[in-house]
Amino acid sequence: MIQADSETTANGNGSSQVKTEDTAQFIKLPDTASYPTGSLDFLVKLRKEQAQQEAMEKLSLHDRRDKPSRLSLKIVIVGAGLGGLAAAIALARKGHKVTVVEQAPFLAEVGAGIQIPSNSSRLLIKWGLKPYLAAKVVTPESIAFKRWQNGDVIALTKLVPEFQENFDAPYYVVHRAHFHDALYQLALELGVDVILNSKVNNYDENAPSVTVEDGKTYTGDLVICSDGVKSIGRSKVLAGVDQAPLRTGFAAYRATVDVEKMKAHPDTAKLLLVPGLNLWIGEMRHVMTYTISGGKAFNMVLSHPDRSDPAGWVKQSPENILSQMREHFNGWDPTLTKIIDMIDTTLKWPLLSGTPLKSWVASSNKLLIMGDAAHAMVPYMSQGAAMAVEDAAALAEAIDLVDNAADLPEALHIWESVRILRTSQMQEASLINGKLWHFPDGPEQRARDAATRAEVEGRQFTTSANQWSDPTTQRWCYGYDAEAEVKKAWDGRLPSKGISNGH
Ligand SMILES: Cc1cc2nc3c(=O)[nH]c(=O)nc-3n(C[C@H](O)[C@H](O)[C@H](O)COP(=O)(O)OP(=O)(O)OC[C@H]3O[C@@H](n4cnc5c(N)ncnc54)[C@H](O)[C@@H]3O)c2cc1C
Repeated sequence: MIQADSETTANGNGSSQVKTEDTAQFIKLPDTASYPTGSLDFLVKLRKEQAQQEAMEKLSLHDRRDKPSRLSLKIVIVGAGLGGLAAAIALARKGHKVTVVEQAPFLAEVGAGIQIPSNSSRLLIKWGLKPYLAAKVVTPESIAFKRWQNGDVIALTKLVPEFQENFDAPYYVVHRAHFHDALYQLALELGVDVILNSKVNNYDENAPSVTVEDGKTYTGDLVICSDGVKSIGRSKVLAGVDQAPLRTGFAAYRATVDVEKMKAHPDTAKLLLVPGLNLWIGEMRHVMTYTISGGKAFNMVLSHPDRSDPAGWVKQSPENILSQMREHFNGWDPTLTKIIDMIDTTLKWPLLSGTPLKSWVASSNKLLIMGDAAHAMVPYMSQGAAMAVEDAAALAEAIDLVDNAADLPEALHIWESVRILRTSQMQEASLINGKLWHFPDGPEQRARDAATRAEVEGRQFTTSANQWSDPTTQRWCYGYDAEAEVKKAWDGRLPSKGISNGH
């Protein structure tokens, strides 16, 4: 039986006094559990809410900065994609001087949508992005998985209010350009220098510095390469031998449809009544859809097998690509094919997947990679950019944990090992969705549909073949706290040091 640390005894004059026992002989109640349990979640949530409340009280709308790190660095980031800008924000908030160098003459994202799952939105909201995004995002109520042939719902994940309640953050969908612009505006507000039209063509990992095409050199204490799938920085952290992402034999058509066209037909209009994600799945193919731009456009990603060389795709006429796309989904749910027929133009993208790298940090410990450069993945968990946001938050936290430059390499390697584990598992989970969704009609498809029936019928379940709903996967995927994981690894590595920085 667990006893109290102290007991109250009556003394001679009737008053009481506290007699303190030697506490060492009594077992201490644990504050956290090392085994998987959800029973202490309410306390974790309460503590977070209390900390957030405290932080909000301190933070005015026009001051997005966090408590500065003890080590203040000059940081050069290559690439102003979603990942590079996320890193710029996370680091500038902690007081670092950040310069972003981008090859494009102006900032733009492909005209399509992106999902911002709760593990990412929690960080973005903490950084102060909500006011920039609020008018642009859609908060879908659910994700409905539909049978390819007739649109019957075969799996159903409820997002509202479940994800906000369980994972402490909303699940958003948004136009990429709006997301990108929100990050850019916040970065500028935090004093980040974004230098456009500057293609980096040389790295010096020891200085560390980058040189751009016009010969200008940018030097810092740390260089972060967030230069995307075709990264040049990646070979620098792999001792000169690149490990580029591999083709998967799948490609995606990306397109948007004007919702006004859909409203003209009762069956397609029905999909717009409640904001939601609708995903049709069938043999070797699937179509992910949701509305973006405050509900004005219907975003579509149509994944299909394609082993041809992407170099040849640019030679195909837009009409040819459109007709191939329609051919791929011939015979699918008539509601879906009606929407596919409304697509006027589409872009075709190869779907690549990286394999886990052995290193993200160069041997100089002054240059590192993150984002798609480090962990490209198929978009089937909708987590690629979310992983870059987590990379950014975790990196700022790792640097925040050290108090002098000599400890920085160790912090970077802890960040690297935590992030390699997390992102390689997400690469795997993304590929597993490709397996779960693409069964031909037959025994595996029927067993899968049976394994998701409980969620459609509103019955309780402890496992699901839908990774958005499966309670264990949900917790790992959306409940992940990128900053806390780095801190845990740092504390585990250095038990005697007891580094705190007031966190
Ligand atoms: C079909 C599809 C759907 C997706 N859906 C989702 C989703 O719903 N949710 C999600 O989280 N993720 C999703 N993703 C993944 C997501 O789009 C990427 O993970 C994310 O955009 C990667 O961002 P990044 O900044 O790492 O790379 P990039 O966006 O590629 O940015 C790299 C930047 O670096 C610049 N650059 C490159 N080389 C140089 C150089 N030498 N000098 C200077 N600048 C340079 C580039 O111009 C670019 O601006 C999806 C991906 C696809 C293909």
